[in-house]
Amino acid sequence: MSSNCYLVAVDAPLKEALTYLPPDNGEVLQRGHSVKVPLGKRTAHGVILKTGSEATKEFKLKAILEAVIARPILPAAYMDWLEWMAQYYIHPIGQIMETVFPPLEKKEKLRKSSKAPVVKEVSHASTPPALTEEQQSVIKGIEATAGFAVHLLHGVTGSGKTEVYLHLLEDLIRTGRQGLVLVPEISLTPQLIDRFSRRFPGSVAVLHSHLTEREKTTQWWGAVSGEKQILIGARSALFCPLPKLGLIILDEEHEPSYKQDEKLKYHARDAAIMLGKNLNIPVVLGSATPSMESWSNAQQGKYKLHTMAQRVNARVMPEISVVDLREVLRHRKDNPSTLPFWLSDELHAELKHVFAKGEQAALFLNRRGMAQTAQCHGCGYVAECPNCSVSLTLHARSYLVCHYCDYSEKLTELCPDCKETPMSALGLGTEKVEDDIAKLFPEARIARADRDEVQTRAQLETLIEDFESERTNLLIGTQMIAKGLDFPRLNFVGLVLADVGFHWPDLRASERSFQLLTQVSGRSGRQTAGRVLIQTYDPSHPSITFTLKNDFYGFAEFELQERRDLLYPPHWRMAMLRIQSNSEADGRKVSEHLAHRAQALQKQFTTYENLQVLGPATAPLHKLRNKFRFQLIVKCDSTKKLNSFCRQLVGDGEWITTGTKVQVDIDPFSMM
Ligand code: ADP
Ligand code: ZN
Repeated sequence: MSSNCYLVAVDAPLKEALTYLPPDNGEVLQRGHSVKVPLGKRTAHGVILKTGSEATKEFKLKAILEAVIARPILPAAYMDWLEWMAQYYIHPIGQIMETVFPPLEKKEKLRKSSKAPVVKEVSHASTPPALTEEQQSVIKGIEATAGFAVHLLHGVTGSGKTEVYLHLLEDLIRTGRQGLVLVPEISLTPQLIDRFSRRFPGSVAVLHSHLTEREKTTQWWGAVSGEKQILIGARSALFCPLPKLGLIILDEEHEPSYKQDEKLKYHARDAAIMLGKNLNIPVVLGSATPSMESWSNAQQGKYKLHTMAQRVNARVMPEISVVDLREVLRHRKDNPSTLPFWLSDELHAELKHVFAKGEQAALFLNRRGMAQTAQCHGCGYVAECPNCSVSLTLHARSYLVCHYCDYSEKLTELCPDCKETPMSALGLGTEKVEDDIAKLFPEARIARADRDEVQTRAQLETLIEDFESERTNLLIGTQMIAKGLDFPRLNFVGLVLADVGFHWPDLRASERSFQLLTQVSGRSGRQTAGRVLIQTYDPSHPSITFTLKNDFYGFAEFELQERRDLLYPPHWRMAMLRIQSNSEADGRKVSEHLAHRAQALQKQFTTYENLQVLGPATAPLHKLRNKFRFQLIVKCDSTKKLNSFCRQLVGDGEWITTGTKVQVDIDPFSMM
């Protein structure tokens, strides 16, 4: 039997890699080589996983068509890492391999793009500021370790974390190595890219999802050829195989957007740490509000903790106060106010003050649209999306829109159900806030930042520039404005309704609210003492009380105790099996079948004792884009056991009804 075959990870939804004979020209290939192989009637890309593979007797093997020389051979550490990804996240290895390569063939990069360059080139490097003592000691601490280590840099907003990254990179590239900087997509602003490219002229490549295919390809090759020393990008930049990678930095490590919810459901932080381990290089995680996962790892000594408690130049933390909306309502019952229902006297006074002094303010509400929804006060009818099990959101007083599938319809004057009573607006959205403010403060030059107003990167950039240059003085927005934006003259931030999100069906609901409140507050007073006002119906919620005290430690202790009590991550690990079906009955059947299989497995194997199965249940978002959704949650004290349990649970998948899909999400974030 010949043992000169190759095991190839083929770009197709196959559980296993496939065995091929050597190419006819006799070329000898290595692990990591890209190839083209026949697959059924078509030709597919693949990457060689193993050489010297044995041919099996049963099948007549096909030969590899050719080596793809336009693609670089993947370094061994990356190959190991990609195989780990496939194993850990239970995803076809060949499809993961495909995410490594740029969208276009190399030769196409030579055609010059007529658009503005991705990275503006400057001729002189900017001079770094003298580091603060805190910055110096953090840098020393990080550079003191050799090889793999995870460093958690816990630094309050404005403490100079980015400056620390820049310094670490400077020291790194002096030794001829490359650095990878991951930031959330939304933080990857021109401001930030500029800051890096000014410090490292000609050395920065950028990758994010808003680039054209050609731009991506050019940037990718700049980094992979070693011509650029620094790659800065959103989570997927992690897959770019940098030949001399010596350091990975992941900023805002707590950001949920690091978790990809579709296809390969990986978490970029966890994946980055694994890559760092394989390459034996340090990984730096930065945040003002670390995730409970990272915090607990730091507490256990698995990560090295570095703290920066001071804002640069002794800028003070903002002054935060809370308005209890229940009291506002009570008070207004007897003392009618001319102000809109959502606007307390306190918030009104703050805004007046800001405009009188010619300062800038931001109002934050995590909900788009004119109002939450439209309801008939006669029969109680609420407009719902025909494709999804959610109510529609009212926009511009005239349209009802689904925020999940973008379905929209015109708002009818009379209730479409009882045809007697007019429909009325219910709740609150950013559009309504803008409307009311424009009436109350004609002097306000408003910029609205939400997904309706800002749909492209260019629009976001214009919005930022307008606010920076003070063409606008009031920013009204959803969480879009909460992240990473740095406006020196923004001195007041109002949280219109902090409660949105407290009761989200998500084990991280409190954590996210705390992070959001802290981050939004951090937007205020970057240069002088800022003020923050939080309006809420639930002032005793821990997310609020700990934000008020500016007490991350207290919050983390409280939250981690809750997670321990409930056997939630990070204490135990979790996986979600998502069942999606064209038919509600089939979906339900498959989810029940899945639960039975789980029970049987637990009975059969004693190793699965520290493992809990919850469900099946209908997903909170039961219907999404005409698919019916169910879920089963598995919790376990061990990652390994959880993984093997999920594999056995789905098995070969032969038992799943056609038209129904079961997907495994390891360490799930979105449980809607
Ligand atoms: P973070 O990333 O923690 O929010 P940054 O690194 O962006 O903080 O720093 C906040 C602001 O302070 C930036 O405008 C930055 O240029 C400035 N800054 C950072 N470090 C120093 C320093 N050592 N001296 C003077 N200014 C600094
Ligand atoms: Zn919908």
